[in-house]
Amino acid sequence: MIPFNRAGFLDAGLAKIRDVLASRHLSGDGPVGRRVEDLLEQALVAPRVLLTSSCTHALEMAALLLDLSPGDEVIVPSFTFVSTVNAFVLRGARPVFADIRPDTLNLDEGQLPSLITPRTKAIVPVHYAGVACEMDTINDLAHRASACVIEDNAHGLFATYRGSSLGTLGALATQSFHETKNFTCGEGGALVVNDGRFLERAVILREKGTNRSKFFRGEVDKYTWVDLGSSYVLSDILGALLLAQLEQRDEIQRRRATIWQRYATELADWARAQDVRLPIVPPHCKTSAHLFYLLLAAPRRAPFLDHLRARGVQAVWHYQPLHASPMGLAHGGVAGSCPVTEKIADELVRLPLYADLTDTEQSTVIDAVRSFR
Ligand SMILES: *Cc1c(COP(=O)(O)O)cnc(C)c1O
Repeated sequence: MIPFNRAGFLDAGLAKIRDVLASRHLSGDGPVGRRVEDLLEQALVAPRVLLTSSCTHALEMAALLLDLSPGDEVIVPSFTFVSTVNAFVLRGARPVFADIRPDTLNLDEGQLPSLITPRTKAIVPVHYAGVACEMDTINDLAHRASACVIEDNAHGLFATYRGSSLGTLGALATQSFHETKNFTCGEGGALVVNDGRFLERAVILREKGTNRSKFFRGEVDKYTWVDLGSSYVLSDILGALLLAQLEQRDEIQRRRATIWQRYATELADWARAQDVRLPIVPPHCKTSAHLFYLLLAAPRRAPFLDHLRARGVQAVWHYQPLHASPMGLAHGGVAGSCPVTEKIADELVRLPLYADLTDTEQSTVIDAVRSFR
């Protein structure tokens, strides 16, 4: 069976993990974590990156930084992972679900004028599949509403929008290094702090609400509890695995892009004949090649997945609409209010895509797809 996902390029991490063990600095915010943060700051051209234990935790930090009060509103796409929304609901905010664009499957910026209210505190674009949301429009509308933009960039590390890295376009942005993402240390994430206003407090929140970093910089003579916080730091052991992955970023991203492009080229005729839609990447966006998906009429999806499974290929669907989920409905979601999300959720299939998928394996996937009629 060719699995949908498979973590790869792991060997180089072993020596780095051994070095961390030998150094005895196993907790977080150590020399290795700092190296990973430096690497990301330089590669993205971002002022400050803070490694976290997950993207979920980075989103929780972002929500804490907004100082939300009950009744404050946060605009989120319905077509996303639960953490994008949960982080804000945990702070007592009301999620306002936006529908997605039918082309990129990203938050439909055209809906924002009707969703923004005086209580809107943040807009959270998710760059689905690693293709940018329309950030110029989103940032402009957010600015006029005095709302903060937080990019959930779990899919889009090293993708660009009009030449700028995703993750550098909002006041804050979050990254994921979960096993299913382009770069992984098993579980991990990062908060990108683009707006310097948030930096000092972000460092404190990540350190359980203490001013520990100031203490280590010699700015205070003892450290103490100064704010809310939690344990959001990534261990240096995992940081070592992540550093090894990121040092191979050119090779990993080149390989992913090649696989993505081969799917697009070799499935084009079949897709046209079968009325199947392939991903759309606008010309001003460079994708991170996180996902390759197909959209086919809902009644054909289950037979298609069965057809692939019978030929040794594991393909999977993706997000179910959050506005119509039990939790979404309990928080003001209305079934039927995001028709594009509801339609796409029933039509989407993701194909195997990872850096060590072999050419032979990809041929098997392509042959299996093309033989479905
Ligand atoms: C994977 C993912 C997350 C959560 O990432 P973790 O690192 O597993 O917490 C959040 N948002 C999106 C869009 C994701 O794909």
